[in-house]
Amino acid sequence: MCYTRGHAFDYDGWARLGNAGWSYQDVLPYFKRAEHHERGADAFHGTGGPLNVANLRSPNVLTKAFVTAGTQVGIPRNDDFNGAEQEGVGLFQVTQKNGRRCSTASGYLGMAKHRGNLTILTGAQARRVLFDGDAAVGVEYQRGGTVHVVHAAMEVILSAGAIQSPQLLMLSGIGDRVPLQAHGIPVVAHLPGVGKNLQDHLDVIVVNSCTQPVSIGITPGNVLRWPWELMKYFCGRRGLFTSNAVEGGGFVKSRPSEPVPDLQFHFSPMKLSRHGMDMGDLFGDGYSLHVCCLRPKSVGEIRLASPHPMEAPQIVANYLTHPDDMETMLRGVRLARDILAAPAFDRYRGRELMPTVLCERDDKIRQFIRERAETIYHPVGTCKMGQDAMAVVDSELRVHGARRLRVVDASIMPTLVGGNTNAPTVMIAEKASDLVRWAAHERRH
Ligand SMILES: Cc1cc2nc3c(=O)[nH]c(=O)nc-3n(C[C@H](O)[C@H](O)[C@H](O)COP(=O)(O)OP(=O)(O)OC[C@H]3O[C@@H](n4cnc5c(N)ncnc54)[C@H](O)[C@@H]3O)c2cc1C
Repeated sequence: MCYTRGHAFDYDGWARLGNAGWSYQDVLPYFKRAEHHERGADAFHGTGGPLNVANLRSPNVLTKAFVTAGTQVGIPRNDDFNGAEQEGVGLFQVTQKNGRRCSTASGYLGMAKHRGNLTILTGAQARRVLFDGDAAVGVEYQRGGTVHVVHAAMEVILSAGAIQSPQLLMLSGIGDRVPLQAHGIPVVAHLPGVGKNLQDHLDVIVVNSCTQPVSIGITPGNVLRWPWELMKYFCGRRGLFTSNAVEGGGFVKSRPSEPVPDLQFHFSPMKLSRHGMDMGDLFGDGYSLHVCCLRPKSVGEIRLASPHPMEAPQIVANYLTHPDDMETMLRGVRLARDILAAPAFDRYRGRELMPTVLCERDDKIRQFIRERAETIYHPVGTCKMGQDAMAVVDSELRVHGARRLRVVDASIMPTLVGGNTNAPTVMIAEKASDLVRWAAHERRH
């Protein structure tokens, strides 16, 4: 539910790579068109769009302490990471409406699903795009064990995300010809960049225990408060259960020479590791500060593991293979510890649980990062937009070497943006809707 857009620098970079129409000034209207910002419209925000963006309703006292602590170590306060300046610490804006998540499913499909020109098939898996020569003419999909075909009157649009859009392209014969032929897939277009250029946000968490019963961890005291919190939630959509768990954050430069923030913090008023999958960590009062390297230089790829559409592709993430990423994370962990050591946390601070006091030397912190870092689920770039030999789509998101086929999702980002990736993906879709409409208009006239 964190609503962040990345930095203007990112989109200007896309334009500099030769993608006309994707500079920050070009894409800002689509960010604005997508949102209904409860703070109202201004130069950076829109109202009336399907995606409801709101302030957090009931931020935890620990999150407020985090914001103060950030300012105490010299980071400016920022009340709008999506406004004139991204740098600073503050509370995240959230994609929520009335205290509940406003996803693209509820924001967009909710209002469109009754239209006569839209059919939604759930539980259906696309197996491959069908071609007549190099023109996409339909999609083969599987539902309940039966294979079906749907024909496209105008064009086919893949939006299966950064892991599966490249898989679908490869299953359909679009990709590097050598592995395609090795899997026995007839080649429609030799496009070696399909699946390459995988970029993702790696994240490591500094965790402290808390001496006061104020976090949202599972403790006897907190559990006793839950009936009251549930009543607040159901009666007024307020309180603990409106939390998005990562309530506060920050965008900072890990060293003064960085042109724009290269680190993002996510603060959570609970103990977290492995995104809550280590259930034991959820017990007890604590708080966590995530450190994320915003523009990793390590690049991975998606490979076809099998020609069978129901089998998962291989994800080769290659995290931390570029040494600069480790050094950025190292500076980030040091800064995170400084923030958590600031006076604002004095009344809450227990002991450091991760990485622990034993981890002071740089080599030890590097080891901690290697052992504990994890994805924050922002894979992008595997069908990148561009004009070079490794580009997969052009600046109108049309697949190179094929006709009547587009990709519209996070996979088209040429570079990973400096922020969470949901709002940028929605922006891409908003822009694509214009591109499709204009193409249809041209065809008619
Ligand atoms: C746990 C988690 C938390 C996140 N939190 C945030 C956050 O707070 N803020 C933020 O900005 N971003 C967040 N993100 C990232 C954000 O969700 C993604 O960047 C965004 O959803 C990417 O959109 P997409 O359309 O590219 O891919 P997806 O949202 O993954 O959509 C792809 C869709 O295609 C479907 N699909 C795939 N293959 C096939 C097939 N063969 N046939 C049929 N359907 C198929 C999938 O089921 C999926 O529904 C989070 C991600 C995760 C996983």
